[in-house]
Parts: sequence; C-alpha cells; structure tokens
Amino acid sequence: MFIAHAPSGYLLGKLLQQLPHCSLAPRALMLACVAGATVPDVDLLYFYLADGRQTHHHQYFSHWPLLWLSLATLSIAWLGVRRHSPWAQGSLAFTLGGLLHMLLDSFVGDVWWLAPFHDEAYALFSVPARYHPWWLSFVLHWSFAVELLICVSATLVYVYRRPSRMEQPSCPPSA
Ligand SMILES: [Zn+2]
Repeated sequence: MFIAHAPSGYLLGKLLQQLPHCSLAPRALMLACVAGATVPDVDLLYFYLADGRQTHHHQYFSHWPLLWLSLATLSIAWLGVRRHSPWAQGSLAFTLGGLLHMLLDSFVGDVWWLAPFHDEAYALFSVPARYHPWWLSFVLHWSFAVELLICVSATLVYVYRRPSRMEQPSCPPSA
C-alpha cells in the first residue's frame, strides 16, 4: 500500500474517538493511531540507505504482524491493570494502527505473517509486474482504487467531521 496508510490511521482514530471512557485527549489518540499506521514504513530508510535494497522491507521486524499482535496484547494487559491510563490507551491505539498497517499491506503485498517462526509470505491479491517502473504496475492495478477510496473517505470524514470535545466552544454564542 502506497498512499492510504496515514488516511487509514486517521479513520481508525475517528472510530476510536467514538468509544466511551477514553481519557486520552482526542488529538493524542489521533496522533497515536496515525503514527502506528505509518511507522512500520520507516524501515524504508534502512532498506534504501543501509541494506542496499537486498531484502524485501516487509521482512524486517517492523513489518512482522506477530510483533504488532504481541504489542497489542501487552497494551491490552496494561489497560487491564491501569484502565484509565492515557498512556495505556495511547499504546493500544498505536499498536492497533500498526496492525492496521499489516492488514493493508497484506492486501496486495507480501507480508510474512508468521515471521520470525516461518519464512513464507502471504498476500490477498497479487499485482502482475506489467509496467516499468515497478510502482506503475501497482498504481494502474484495480487495487489502487481501494487506496483512493480510503483517501477519499478520510477526506470526507475530515471535511464533515463534528467538532471534538476539545474544539467545541465552552459557551453558546450570544444572540
Ligand atoms: Zn508497510
């Protein structure tokens, strides 16, 4: 997935903001979701600058779904102990963002779902390498419409959003 990770994190943040009993500030919750949804791809820096593009960056530990599942499980356990802790809530939001990234990458990209225990990649759909440069094959594949749909949805939610608790005026305007 190329362009939809940050918008998908935004949609996740808007969804989680609807949950009751969330003591985390809405903006902090949104930041945690968007950061979690995008941070796995920071490994592209290592891919290009250090690894010399020798290893598929989805094979790095930052793209191991079992890592994100483990972190989410730890966050849930943390919430079980400290239910109203904003840090525990932020940790869970961040790891859910990371898990969302893994799911979206699995749509048309190879993801090593059982790494580091089993060396096999899984993808829901595959994109044939038809065009040059390589990324053109992804952009011209039908699956890119799903990315655009996520981006358009996030844009519409942003434009037509209701003001959060932090943005609501504290007193009604005078007549
Ligand atoms: Zn990724």
